[in-house]
Amino acid sequence: MSELHSGSCLCGSIRFKAHGKLRGIVYCHCSQCRKQSGHFYAATNVQNDAITITGEENIKWYAASEYAARGFCRNCGSVMFWKHHDLDYISVMAGSFDKPTNLQGEVHIFVGDKGDYYEIRDDLPKYVAGGGGIVVAGD
Ligand SMILES: [Zn+2]
Ligand SMILES: [Zn+2]
Repeated sequence: MSELHSGSCLCGSIRFKAHGKLRGIVYCHCSQCRKQSGHFYAATNVQNDAITITGEENIKWYAASEYAARGFCRNCGSVMFWKHHDLDYISVMAGSFDKPTNLQGEVHIFVGDKGDYYEIRDDLPKYVAGGGGIVVAGD
């Protein structure tokens, strides 16, 4: 039987079910993710055809760039989705999943743009920019 993961926003007006194994968590420290979430993003992703969303009319999409939009609940403000217009998957915030998620951290990206009020103290790979960028040596 394939895995099924469910989740929701804080107020429950947006719910989703994701089928299959979830990707490891990407932590994104870019300024857009920090400002929108209040800290940094922790997101897995799901193929478009492997996620069922109910209450989709409650998602407010904010086009932070010309290539992607950020989806949050228009009622409670929960940050939930990141969607690149040309890709066939949707990023889903790890914190919106119900436990147990069985999710694990995989990589930090855009650490060159991270906030100056915290340190990254784990041993995961760290990229200055996007995933194809230069790995920052651990300290
Ligand atoms: Zn909500
Ligand atoms: Zn980001």
